[in-house]
Amino acid sequence: MAAVAAPDAFNLGFIGAGNMAESISSGVAKSGVLPPASIRTTHRRTDRRLVFQSFGVKILETNAQVVDDSDIIILSVKPQIVKKVLLELKPFFSEEKVLVSIAAGIKLKDLQEWSGQRRIIRVMPNTPATVGQAASVMCVGEMATKKDEERVTSLFGAIGKVWTADEKYFDAVTGLSGSGPAYVYRAIEALADGGVAAGLPRDLVLGLASQTVLGAAATVNLTGKHPGQLKDAVTSPAGTTVAGIQELERGAFRGTLMNAVVAATKRCRELS
Ligand code: NAD
Repeated sequence: MAAVAAPDAFNLGFIGAGNMAESISSGVAKSGVLPPASIRTTHRRTDRRLVFQSFGVKILETNAQVVDDSDIIILSVKPQIVKKVLLELKPFFSEEKVLVSIAAGIKLKDLQEWSGQRRIIRVMPNTPATVGQAASVMCVGEMATKKDEERVTSLFGAIGKVWTADEKYFDAVTGLSGSGPAYVYRAIEALADGGVAAGLPRDLVLGLASQTVLGAAATVNLTGKHPGQLKDAVTSPAGTTVAGIQELERGAFRGTLMNAVVAATKRCRELS
């Protein structure tokens, strides 16, 4: 009989029990990647502690205890306080621990300098993490091991899809997948308003618009076909869809989206 591989066991800690930590830890707990009792965090507010306790996360008293009791530490505080928090925690890190930062714009070399830690992985997830549909990009520091990379991939795999990329791409990743959900929310809102303009009742349009975007995205993901090919397949000669697409081209739809990604990337560079 083939031996069954034992599940990978390690402790995961969150420094900064906010929205992203909540999405990641609940996704990890629900997916079974780790039992909730292996996840720990801390927060000074009782309501935040109760949220994490509701899905089985262990609450400790201090950030230092979280670091001490964890093998992988996800740093999920706001970027402005990353330096202060890491300098405070520096004495509690050790060779065996892995630091994972999701803080936007904070580079590996600064994380290393402030924490003294050498095994570091930087990840940029996005807000659809809340519903288990994040697009996360990971950059693995030089001293992180293959095992560290696998563990972190499985953690972020519990809240969506994960890619690996060089750190030099992180500003552009922020411009595309980090800010991208907001562009798509605008598109869904506009499609819904278009439906109302074309005579549909308001209570019908939002669901139709969002399901249409979800369905189109799923079609691209699941068929692996290029979106241009899928567009061609639904665009019949002198038909309705091509009339709509012609209007999109007149409004520079694709150029506008491209410019949005480039503008957000530029802004990210200015801020980091
Ligand atoms: P958030 O404000 O919800 O969470 C931060 C938490 O840290 C708060 O609960 C706050 O009380 C806590 N905190 C403040 N000071 C602390 C301290 N000294 N020690 C411990 N905890 C402390 O923010 P968020 O949206 O969860 O973002 C967290 C990080 O994730 C940020 O660095 C952000 O750049 C990054 N990020 C966010 C997104 C996003 O779309 N929200 C995407 C990618 C990356």
